[in-house]
Amino acid sequence: MRKKIIAGNWKMYKTNEEAKQLINDIKKNISLIKKTKVVVCPPATALVEVASLLKGTPIALGAQNIHWEKEGAFTGELSAGMIKSAGAAYVILGHSERRQYFGETDSNVCRKIVAALSQGLTPIVCIGETLEQREKGITKEIVAQQIDQGLSGLTTAQMSRLVFAYEPVWAIGTGKNATPAQAQEVHEFIRNRLSALYDAETAQNITIQYGGSVKPANALDLLKQPDIDGALVGGACLQADSFLDIIKAAESING
Ligand code: PEP
Repeated sequence: MRKKIIAGNWKMYKTNEEAKQLINDIKKNISLIKKTKVVVCPPATALVEVASLLKGTPIALGAQNIHWEKEGAFTGELSAGMIKSAGAAYVILGHSERRQYFGETDSNVCRKIVAALSQGLTPIVCIGETLEQREKGITKEIVAQQIDQGLSGLTTAQMSRLVFAYEPVWAIGTGKNATPAQAQEVHEFIRNRLSALYDAETAQNITIQYGGSVKPANALDLLKQPDIDGALVGGACLQADSFLDIIKAAESING
């Protein structure tokens, strides 16, 4: 059975002092984490500090982006090897904010996936439609295109190491989550697409998180859906209490 993964995307929030406070607050209730995989993704400036605070805990560290090259003249960028050496085991790729504000394309995402995997990192690959696309009734076409182009050329062995996050753009940071039924419908579609592109067994084992205004009040109903394997949490991961409450919801389901 797939275990739930709860990941927190801190976005561009938290100085190092604030990051330390948040991790220490989460650690006060660390014993509630038993079967859920928990990942925190602070800004790059806090990776090293957070890595040292997480030593000896079951919480894994992730970054929010990488460049696809190993090194080079790419001012302001970080490579997969760099975030790995800072302590990260995961990296969020293709987040809609990167697609919207930084021109990230599916082919960029694909190159970043390859770079992350080459360093042994687990990519959390974000896909999802805008409000306009949903209203036009083309959600599945958009998600299919993001999958097909984002995974272009990846082998089954490579794809099996990915985590996906279905994040409808209209639900991110808006307080308006997809209903459990809306989310389940797209998650099932994603799994079927992966099954068609690769094989049924590999697709069954893939973790597909939901992201978009997940909070303690809606987490359980979303996580109970058969194809929703966890959550990528933005706003609600910035306070220990709400992040821990979402983890508790996952713990209540994880067998
Ligand atoms: C996100 O940033 O990935 C996200 C889902 O944000 P929020 O939970 O705030 O909607």
